[in-house]
Amino acid sequence: MSNYKTIKQITQAAPPHMVGDGFKVRNFIGQSLWQDLSPFLMLDYNEPWDVLPTNHPRGVDVHPHKGFETVTIAWDGMVSHEDSSGGKGTIGPGDVQWMTAGSGILHKEFHAEEFSKKGGRFHMAQLWVNLPAANKNTPPAYQDLLDAQMGRYPLPDGRGEVRVIAGELNGTHGPARTFTRINIYDAQLQAGADWQLSLPEGDTLGIVVMKGNLLINDEQQARTGDLVVFGTHHTDVKIESNNEAHLLVLSGEPIREPIAAYGPFVMNTRQEIMDAIDEYNSGKYGVLH
Ligand code: MN
Repeated sequence: MSNYKTIKQITQAAPPHMVGDGFKVRNFIGQSLWQDLSPFLMLDYNEPWDVLPTNHPRGVDVHPHKGFETVTIAWDGMVSHEDSSGGKGTIGPGDVQWMTAGSGILHKEFHAEEFSKKGGRFHMAQLWVNLPAANKNTPPAYQDLLDAQMGRYPLPDGRGEVRVIAGELNGTHGPARTFTRINIYDAQLQAGADWQLSLPEGDTLGIVVMKGNLLINDEQQARTGDLVVFGTHHTDVKIESNNEAHLLVLSGEPIREPIAAYGPFVMNTRQEIMDAIDEYNSGKYGVLH
């Protein structure tokens, strides 16, 4: 009997919208997928976009977050982050910014100054990762994860490479420190690649097809712009690529707790959201100019 994970649905990303003036994103994960893809709450995908030079870096000015983590993955272009806990950094192609908002933070996110002056190709994603109730008030933290630190798992016959950003793949580990067991893989597949993936029983799984045409579990096709959502039962997935493909693979141990969310705050109850708004309004998340 097959041990393939069930494909629950294949959805297309929403049309692009702007976040500030610097991020032109298509949303892949919304509230309807919070259970199926826990602990992932949101994925804003900035497709490759050619940005004109400017002396005024584009982006999003100071805003708060509480109760979860924001993970920014860069493929082309550069972004700078700065937050009220003192965390700051600039990342470029292949790097990842992992910000734990935890108990509450202010931050801003802009195209890096040196990138803005030259302009060029910009290709990024931002993922929101939920925290369990026990860790929602953890102190804010910031991890700069550089391309050279990523785990690298070669596919058989030289048919591609999987970068492990977080978690583990067949003994290859990613550099991110996480609060729950999460795998984030950035996979480049060549034409004719055949990737057999095995995950723990009970884990969630979503595969974002940033580029390519795939046959999954011998039965379903997925193409550029699709998110493939799997059920939690069973363990195996078979991915065959017809052409060059680029995938973002998200899986993890689901957090089975209620979610109350309002804009940049993600807590467990409505009262905690109201408290978060009060904390923000009374300046408890610090100062950032
Ligand atoms: Mn933000």
